[in-house]
Amino acid sequence: MKKIIIFNWKMYPSSLKEAKELFNSILKQIKNLEIVVAAPFIYLSEFVGLINKTKIKLGAQDVFYKDEGAYTGEISPTMLKNLGVEYIIIGHSERRKYLDETDEMINKKVSAALKTGLKVVLCVGEPSRATSGKRQETNRAKNYVKRQLEKDLKGVKNMSYVSGPLSLIIVYEPVWAISTSGTGKICQPKDALKMIKFIKKFLSVKYQVSSVKVLYGGSVDSKNIKNFVKYSEIDGALVGGASLKIKEVKKIIKIIK
Ligand code: PEP
Repeated sequence: MKKIIIFNWKMYPSSLKEAKELFNSILKQIKNLEIVVAAPFIYLSEFVGLINKTKIKLGAQDVFYKDEGAYTGEISPTMLKNLGVEYIIIGHSERRKYLDETDEMINKKVSAALKTGLKVVLCVGEPSRATSGKRQETNRAKNYVKRQLEKDLKGVKNMSYVSGPLSLIIVYEPVWAISTSGTGKICQPKDALKMIKFIKKFLSVKYQVSSVKVLYGGSVDSKNIKNFVKYSEIDGALVGGASLKIKEVKKIIKIIK
């Protein structure tokens, strides 16, 4: 089955020239792949004209929960939809940490984006893990992720806005394994697999949906991506830091093909 790869550029690069170079290098590689580039807002309108006839999809890294109004500095789901953006990352750990985004805010964003017809990429993951593999530790992490899912998807219960298998994507991102977390720890693919199976089971029992894709994110690069996506249950990857290096991007795309 085709894997989904989402490149999260975070707050990089600093010029449109560099952004275009990176984007064009991805454009050249794409063939029959579900590749999403989640670029900073200001570059998105530049990219919409370039994606015709390619498989590349545009993503944003955040969205507000109202369609319009006096909300200085915010970008609405409708604005993004009208521009041609398809995917929205919501609840990324960096926004939870640096912008104090709460599950309540995330829940409002998820609902608003889904109602507008955008594809939601919801990030969840536990902040720390003392000893990977220990049952008590694993259960604590599962409970943490379960609570996030319950809060972030509140009211989306019957999934009435979820019209297709790609309308809602979950990313399991163990926060401690994200390259910028500074822990230097990595999540073992088997541990990621366990959590992803747990998330899928939870969603199918609680929401009766079996089609939600679950990706892995956390220091994924060209060297380790295979170890995650080789499992059929892991539907792809969210790639942060590595997605900013043209050589890495080329290698990742080659591996996924
Ligand atoms: C991310 O941005 O979601 C991410 C996983 O970052 P990195 O790949 O750099 O750890």
